[in-house]
Amino acid sequence: MKKEKETDTIMATFKAYFRGWTSGLKSLATGMCTSMKVFRQKAVTEEYPENRHSTLHIPERYRGRLRLLTDEEGQFRCVACGICQMNCPNGTIRIEADTVETEEGRKRKQLRAYHYDLGSCIFCQLCVEACPHGAIAFSNDFENAVFERDRLKLDLTRPEDNRCHDWQ
Ligand code: SF4
Ligand code: SF4
Repeated sequence: MKKEKETDTIMATFKAYFRGWTSGLKSLATGMCTSMKVFRQKAVTEEYPENRHSTLHIPERYRGRLRLLTDEEGQFRCVACGICQMNCPNGTIRIEADTVETEEGRKRKQLRAYHYDLGSCIFCQLCVEACPHGAIAFSNDFENAVFERDRLKLDLTRPEDNRCHDWQ
């Protein structure tokens, strides 16, 4: 009687071991199948920054940083009306302007500085949509990391701040 009980226990242990073994083998086979499937797929990872000048693609409409646009003569289209500044929800833009007299004797504003704090911009594009002169736009230049926050405070009238690197 005792011997039969021992045999049953051994059989039960063996069955449990075998069940665990087959289940492990099954999950290993499933994992290998998935690996082989992914192995044959085209790679989607990109080797940045090595691919900066080869395969890197940034969507054209990506909002990287604001920039001032110029006309055919290279002059800023901005007439310093301040509408973008008024429409910006968090004071990211601050316009500085001078009042000048035109040849016809009329007074008009002339842009002196276009302060744009890239660090506080939320890229809502309200400024771009509000501008009645099409004078500003977002470039898809995404490489804007700096070590000091102050370096994100830009004056877009300065060429080095009004960077225009459009990624394709
Ligand atoms: S960017 Fe447009 S809205 Fe802003 S001040 Fe210049 S002209 Fe006016
Ligand atoms: S995108 Fe929005 S937050 Fe940024 S400057 Fe324009 S209005 Fe202000």
